[in-house]
Amino acid sequence: MAQVELLPEITKFVERPPKMMIGGRACEADSGETFDVIDPSTGQKVTEVPRGRAADIDAAVAAARQAFEDGRWSGLRPGKRTEVLYKLGELIKRNISELAQLESLDSGKPINIASGEMWTAGDVFRYYSGWPTKVFGETNPTQENMFVYSLREPVGVCGGIIPWNFPLIMAAWKVAPALAFGNTIVLKPAEQTPLTALRLAELCLEAGVPEGVVNVVTGFGEEAGQALAVHTDVDKIAFTGSTAVGRKILHASEENLKRVTLELGGKSPNIVLADANMKRATKGSMLGVFLNSGQVCTAGTRMLVESSVHDDFVSALVKATSSMKLGHALDEDTQMGPVVSERQLQTVTNYIDIGRSEGAEVVTGGERDTGLGDGYYVQPTIFAGVRNDMRIAQEEIFGPVATVIEVADVDQAIEVANDTMYGLASAVWTNDLSKAHRLARGIKAGTVWINGSGLYDPSVSFGGYKQSGFGRELGVHSMEAYTEVKSVWVNLK
Ligand code: NAP
Ligand code: MG
Repeated sequence: MAQVELLPEITKFVERPPKMMIGGRACEADSGETFDVIDPSTGQKVTEVPRGRAADIDAAVAAARQAFEDGRWSGLRPGKRTEVLYKLGELIKRNISELAQLESLDSGKPINIASGEMWTAGDVFRYYSGWPTKVFGETNPTQENMFVYSLREPVGVCGGIIPWNFPLIMAAWKVAPALAFGNTIVLKPAEQTPLTALRLAELCLEAGVPEGVVNVVTGFGEEAGQALAVHTDVDKIAFTGSTAVGRKILHASEENLKRVTLELGGKSPNIVLADANMKRATKGSMLGVFLNSGQVCTAGTRMLVESSVHDDFVSALVKATSSMKLGHALDEDTQMGPVVSERQLQTVTNYIDIGRSEGAEVVTGGERDTGLGDGYYVQPTIFAGVRNDMRIAQEEIFGPVATVIEVADVDQAIEVANDTMYGLASAVWTNDLSKAHRLARGIKAGTVWINGSGLYDPSVSFGGYKQSGFGRELGVHSMEAYTEVKSVWVNLK
């Protein structure tokens, strides 16, 4: 068991302890209060961060407003903004080891996976660095005596509110497009995982992002998050998190009718047809649900398996799952770490009890793993004999829990796949081209993976149908979310 040794930078960073970033200055909370940051692998305190509240959000929004209005960022030559964003991506890449260790300590993510995620976060900035020079308006054919054209302008001050499951990637998904299209931002990371967002704020300054353009306020959702969501000087909120909080964000936006994009929860179908390559389907389905301890909004938690291969698939899945190595996030051979918090541990184990009481059968796992000390470890758990109307098939568990549901054929697979309030993602395993495309068309979800799962790229837009949210992030569609269109009429006579 090779546990990586913490870099001296990490010890220094947590011992400082880290502060918020407002207007380019590292600062304490106005109240002077802090809250503890916990390592999920041990349940021990790592450090503490400022407990930002409404007063701190006010200060951050004022800094972001000033930075927006004086044009210190949006007024830069687009090619200059490209340079800065690219440099930021490179800086993240150069600091992968340090960022990955911070992320691992804070979230319980296996270190090797965290390293990959840090690269991905850097890649999001590199992708968006190409955008500032490609924001075009249009000319419109109207009347002979008129010249009409459109300008695409930044929305203004953006608020980013993010969850704890992919802390730096989520921060990148909010900060990079906001900046690429000329906006300024106030970011509120999840209370469980504030560390990499705070480090990102420092790297922004190092890359040459002007002070006040990226502000980070740490704190609780009901305090800092709510204050940001209701703030009437915030022009747009980009939220990623649960559907329940997404509703609150929408209500909070009504006073000044701010623009809102919501990336919410999911209960994604993972459909295995009889003709699939079973080896590939088994491994892909397993990773699709247990990666990041199941704390993934797109996790393929509802496995819809065609009857003729159902039993074989379940045994292969159980076998593959039993060989997964559960362990401390900083062990290099760990494949699955703990869940993020004690509260999440309670939620997940409670759902396992609910599944049992609903009559589903635990075919592997089903318990908290106490063999690894006080960390928040849950065994990867698979329920078979599940009906789609059970709570474990309808509600987002956000932990390492899969449900297997038998379906008769493709038609029933589509019916069951869509029998949910969510519509975030889906995976389909089949070698039949026609069936694959029928499913792609039939499933109501923002993403369909065919013979794959958990695939993302900054150029591919991402978002939900139904109660999984609205608006699209990444790719060309993110321009809609971060710009306003202004039509200009010029009377030629
Ligand atoms: P959450 O409880 O909804 O929290 C998300 C963020 O909202 C956190 O920063 C949270 O702050 C903040 N928040 C909580 N209450 C708030 C309020 N009243 N006003 C403003 N902000 C508030 O979600 P989570 O438990 O962190 O994350 C898991 C959820 O995120 C899952 O449902 C998952 O599916 C979803 N998710 C979706 C996507 C996607 O792209 N669709 C990606 C990842 C995760 P605190 O945590 O600090 O209290
Ligand atoms: Mg933590």
